[in-house]
Amino acid sequence: MKQADVIIIGGGLMGSSCALQLAMRGQRVIVVEKDHPGRHASGVNAGGLRKLNRHPAEIPLSVAASAIWADIHSLVGQDCDVKLCGQLRVAENSADMDKLEQRAALLQSMGYQHEQMISRKRLYELAPVLAPHCTGALYCADDGYARPYHALTAFRSKAEALGVEYHIGEQANALDKKSAGWQVHCAQQSYQAPVVINCAGAWAAQVCEMLGETVALTVAAPMMMVSERIAPFLNPVIGAASRKLSFKQMQNGTLLIGGAHLAHYNPCDQSTRMDFSKLAESARTVCALFPQLRDVKIVRSWCGLEAFMPDQLPVISASPDNPGIFHAFGFSAHGFQLSPVIGQIMAQLILDGHSPLPIEAFCIQRFSQTRQDTA
Ligand SMILES: Cc1cc2nc3c(=O)[nH]c(=O)nc-3n(C[C@H](O)[C@H](O)[C@H](O)COP(=O)(O)OP(=O)(O)OC[C@H]3O[C@@H](n4cnc5c(N)ncnc54)[C@H](O)[C@@H]3O)c2cc1C
Repeated sequence: MKQADVIIIGGGLMGSSCALQLAMRGQRVIVVEKDHPGRHASGVNAGGLRKLNRHPAEIPLSVAASAIWADIHSLVGQDCDVKLCGQLRVAENSADMDKLEQRAALLQSMGYQHEQMISRKRLYELAPVLAPHCTGALYCADDGYARPYHALTAFRSKAEALGVEYHIGEQANALDKKSAGWQVHCAQQSYQAPVVINCAGAWAAQVCEMLGETVALTVAAPMMMVSERIAPFLNPVIGAASRKLSFKQMQNGTLLIGGAHLAHYNPCDQSTRMDFSKLAESARTVCALFPQLRDVKIVRSWCGLEAFMPDQLPVISASPDNPGIFHAFGFSAHGFQLSPVIGQIMAQLILDGHSPLPIEAFCIQRFSQTRQDTA
């Protein structure tokens, strides 16, 4: 049986970030991945690097992750196509302005300066092509985006260069606690280590079930669209205060459109079917804010499976019931930006027993506590 210090279930960005940080601290790490790294959420997402409008509990992690992305080359040896062009959350009326001003005031009261209200004049300096009805925006100047698959490949390559073994096509089917540590049984072989991390994304609840732990995770499939290439016209990433939108022009001229519209997902066979009426709604939102794009062609659409938690916050936690088991899942469609810091936190939890970042809000017990409180 193959031995390691840590076995990671799932070779997406979370698994690869954990693998890299543990290897940097001298750990022998095995990653088991049932499909291939980046096949699911980590390779197909919108690549948004967004501190803007984060849940307050996530802000310290997001701020720490932002500093890592700004110098990502020194961590992974590649730039992951990071572009820190700013993100805007656009207001279209006075109700939107009130909402964004309240948000800005909340952040100021918490001592953060990275989200700033900007005037209509400043908004049109940053995005001159916006439809003329917008009234202002909330702005995070050092947000931006990266290329998800490039980032995933960079994390994985650096981890492998430091000795991490990826076992691709290996699905963890069962976990057993033995005196020598945890055994992870896959179809082809078994692996043993004192520590196992559950980075199984949309399948994380199944890994929890193998351990006798239940979590209130739901799986959904956010959709994306990409257009033909057009001449550069937009620098910052655009979101909206009261519409579902994530919109950016990539370095190659294509327009990437997201905003958490969901495809149909069938849990029985894990198949997905695009919801074209919602994609049309998404396209209409873009045209409302950028009418000149009406004739641009969409060339491709897709969706990816993601794990959502009831409170939209991830689980980043040691298992309370199974010593040696750690969880990092449930990123609820905003985990890409956090990924570099998640590896750091998990390495700290495993090797130091604690992380200096505040992670109490992400403990797995929060759901069982809620059940007890409301019982
Ligand atoms: C369409 C879309 C757009 C998004 N846009 C953004 C964005 O702009 N910004 C942002 O911050 N976040 C975004 N996200 C969220 C982000 O992509 C995810 O939060 C993040 O990638 C989760 O990474 P992960 O490693 O946990 O999951 P995954 O990448 O899904 O990796 C989990 C891996 O575990 C493997 N696995 C599962 N079970 C087993 C098992 N039993 N044995 C072996 N392997 C197993 C799976 O095959 C999978 O490869 C988006 C997500 C989607 C779907």
